[in-house]
Amino acid sequence: MSQTLAGKCFCGAVHYQVADEFVYAANCHCSNCRRATGSAFKPFAGIEREKFRLVAGDDRLLIFGDESGHDAHCGRCGSLIDSLVRDGAYVHVAMGTLVDDPTIRPTAHIFVGSKAKWFTITDDLPQYDGHVPG
Ligand SMILES: [Zn+2]
Ligand SMILES: [Zn+2]
Repeated sequence: MSQTLAGKCFCGAVHYQVADEFVYAANCHCSNCRRATGSAFKPFAGIEREKFRLVAGDDRLLIFGDESGHDAHCGRCGSLIDSLVRDGAYVHVAMGTLVDDPTIRPTAHIFVGSKAKWFTITDDLPQYDGHVPG
């Protein structure tokens, strides 16, 4: 039996639950993730959409994108909660919004080819110019 992890936005209007069954996790340095988060990169963890559930604030979401792919932010404080990806089959949970500690850890830096020049990666995780190959 896996655990259920809680997560929430900065202001607390949006709460979610997600199974501790993430399939992959990485730090994405692409310009879209940098702008969506205002940070050097976005640590995210991927899971099947049906294992992620909003428990409060689903009427307050600010959706940027459409049903096949989007970023979901809290409409009040702006926190990036998750991204709907892969034609709506998976969500990429913004790991910074997790309250509980997931089992998974980011295993790679991706889109390092477009990372911010002012940021230096100082860990030993593998680095890829784009997606993880294969
Ligand atoms: Zn909020
Ligand atoms: Zn990205």
